[in-house]
Amino acid sequence: MPISAAFEKRLSPRLRDIVAHYGTPFHLYDEAGIRETGEALKQAFQGFDGFMEYYAVKALPNPRILQILQSMGFGFDCSSIAELKLSRQLGARSEDIMFTSTNTSRAEFEAAADAGGCVLNLDDISLIPKVPVMPELICFRYNPGPRRTGNEIIGNPAESKYGLAHDQLTDAYRAARDRGACRFGLHTMLVSNEREQAYMVETAQMLLERVEQISADLGISFEFINIGGGLGIPYEPGEETLDIRSMAAGISEVFDKFRDRNGYVPKLYMESGRYMTGPHGVLVTSAINRKEIYRTYIGVDACMSALMRPGMYGAYHHITVAGKEGGQETVDVVGSLCENNDKFAIQRALPVIEEGDLVLIHDTGAHALAMGFNYNGKLRPKELLLRSDGSVELIRRAETLDDYFRTLDFEEDVMHVGP
Ligand SMILES: *Cc1c(COP(=O)(O)O)cnc(C)c1O
Repeated sequence: MPISAAFEKRLSPRLRDIVAHYGTPFHLYDEAGIRETGEALKQAFQGFDGFMEYYAVKALPNPRILQILQSMGFGFDCSSIAELKLSRQLGARSEDIMFTSTNTSRAEFEAAADAGGCVLNLDDISLIPKVPVMPELICFRYNPGPRRTGNEIIGNPAESKYGLAHDQLTDAYRAARDRGACRFGLHTMLVSNEREQAYMVETAQMLLERVEQISADLGISFEFINIGGGLGIPYEPGEETLDIRSMAAGISEVFDKFRDRNGYVPKLYMESGRYMTGPHGVLVTSAINRKEIYRTYIGVDACMSALMRPGMYGAYHHITVAGKEGGQETVDVVGSLCENNDKFAIQRALPVIEEGDLVLIHDTGAHALAMGFNYNGKLRPKELLLRSDGSVELIRRAETLDDYFRTLDFEEDVMHVGP
């Protein structure tokens, strides 16, 4: 979807100056928009005592952005040592951090336990004896398998590598309790970019049913359920936005019923990435080439290193051209990678684009730069923050060739093996 009218209004009068100062390409993020979404989320879930959003750091792992989210009271969902490190550098501690790793290594367990620890969310029953010191509070990730359907991006739960199988849950909590855990949470993440609120309500319902079953089996109670991330945003014009107020109302009903039966309710946690920041970013590029063969190609000065989603998932990202309107021409908008899926748009109706035009690729506030890779020696661009006061701040510099060649700088290490 085109970026919000408010973001557009903040950006347009400043765009030429920003480009003149910083040069293209860059991702630019809108602080005011991120804060607005954060406040709306808090508002929608204010009826839930102890509600917590753990921002999925992988979506936009920039310390300045994380700082903004932290200032609104959100925690961080991490799944790597680098993400733990980023969160801790901002002062996040223990229960401000959820560690949702998969195929977890010993080094990751050690990092998770470091510096005040975090909430451990275990992805498999086999990991229980591998946790170096079992913390008081433990969470497991549930995979319902054939009991639920996922969605396109994340796939069918029965084929997904994440989480514990249905029949392993009770045994897992028992084993964790035997190792000393005494506070419990239950987590799942079944969808990605889902705009249907009913699905998230069903997920809360499903988790609460599991909680009742496990509690009945073991006589434990649960401190929280975590419904995961995956809240969707509209990428295409005309798509509906997710209605978080009715999602909150639906979950609230499910919670009330649980309270009636059990005399308490666990806290509600979530770990959205895309929903929080996705719509509040834009990739600003310049058109540098125009090529006419069997199709018309508009070559821009960014490529997949800045945004993989179109090439990787065939995902739609809305595109506009600064100062131009309409769809007079059907073109492919492409990067410079020697890889034919390096296209930001395929057969898209756009205004007639000339060299030097600013081409804006929308909704790059999540899973954009962070997913970019260096294939073909392509470097990742810089990140800017449009601050609430209207000023602009460089929050990550562009990569340089020195960065790229850094891993070739090492001590010689030759080994003679064999006879
Ligand atoms: C990626 C991820 C998220 C965030 O997903 P969004 O679609 O950005 O909300 C949350 N939790 C876990 C465990 C993830 O892997």
